[in-house]
Amino acid sequence: MSLWNTAHPWLRELVSYEPGKPIEDVARELGLKPEEIIKLASNENPLGPSPKALAAMREMLERSHFYPDGGGYYLREAIAAKVGLKRENVILGCGSNEVIEFIGKAFLNPGDEIVCARHAFVVYKLMATLFGATTIEVPDPNFAHDLDAMAAAITPKTREVFIANPNNPTGTLLSQDEIDRFMEKVPAHVVVVFDEAYYEFLENPPDTLKFVREGRNVVVLRTFSKIQGLANLRIGYGLAKPELIDVLQKTRQPFNANGIAQAGALAGLADEDHQRKTRELTLEGRNFLQREFAAMGLEFVPSFANFVLVRVGDGRAVFQALMRKGIIVRDMTSYALPEWIRVSIGTMPQNTRFITELRKFPGLATAAR
Ligand SMILES: *Cc1c(COP(=O)(O)O)cnc(C)c1O
Repeated sequence: MSLWNTAHPWLRELVSYEPGKPIEDVARELGLKPEEIIKLASNENPLGPSPKALAAMREMLERSHFYPDGGGYYLREAIAAKVGLKRENVILGCGSNEVIEFIGKAFLNPGDEIVCARHAFVVYKLMATLFGATTIEVPDPNFAHDLDAMAAAITPKTREVFIANPNNPTGTLLSQDEIDRFMEKVPAHVVVVFDEAYYEFLENPPDTLKFVREGRNVVVLRTFSKIQGLANLRIGYGLAKPELIDVLQKTRQPFNANGIAQAGALAGLADEDHQRKTRELTLEGRNFLQREFAAMGLEFVPSFANFVLVRVGDGRAVFQALMRKGIIVRDMTSYALPEWIRVSIGTMPQNTRFITELRKFPGLATAAR
């Protein structure tokens, strides 16, 4: 008898997440030296973690024989203080991805529905599938979330709506007006999740915490993986009203956020200088890449985050050609965008090396229109 006869039937549909290719894999497969390879594939911080975070983590490393503070007291206090809420409004996750899973565990049953955009971050659908729920993908003309259409897609079966702002992999941003108009239409039985993984890169971020303060069924997700450069540590958080946080707390393992990550996040949170440097580097690199794409006649989606989606023709071929040169970008076939690649913004030397190699790709001219 196959195990599939007893496993949840919907698990068969679950496709595994396709992550950015690790540097070590590329080095091994192509016989390159790891230090020759640049990874512009997972929207990581090219500056690395804050030196203050590194120092705090080294200190905590010595205490690795102790279990972490499962309640995350200091980090939740610090996050709450930073955003003007209370510790009771904060839940920590092993990455904000884990909080997406908590929300699924708490609210999704087989047959339920979630609503997200056609080109939204793929983890929403993966988590919905894990709990036997159906993902309603709403068309996003020009890669922008169509919130009117998403509101119209809500049915009595809808439990969750996911809005990534800025969205990954498109980099598009919704305005405060669009968000407010959407929230006026959302019925009370739906939990709205604003995934703000790239919030800190924005110059004028829309306010979604006001819905938390108003007691709406809203979870705002943020992470230490992007601007803080702590992706390896797996630490992120959700912000919601205390009742909703209480529900989510029930769904997590006692020590889901490890102590080294908590220490690094706490120190990194206070390092405004490192965040400012990261923001400036991102802006400079994004302007450079977008200018170069325009000069090459390549279509791209103007980005509000630390990556750009660009149409190169045969995305997989470009991805492979760049990889042979030691540059890892993200091929977009898993997002049903085979003509596109997503490139994360690196340091200026990395961005320049990427553009230099991209320009050499012979098929590129035919991608331009
Ligand atoms: C990177 C990213 C996350 C963050 O994931 P972590 O689990 O915190 O590393 C969440 N949402 C989106 C849209 C992202 O791009």
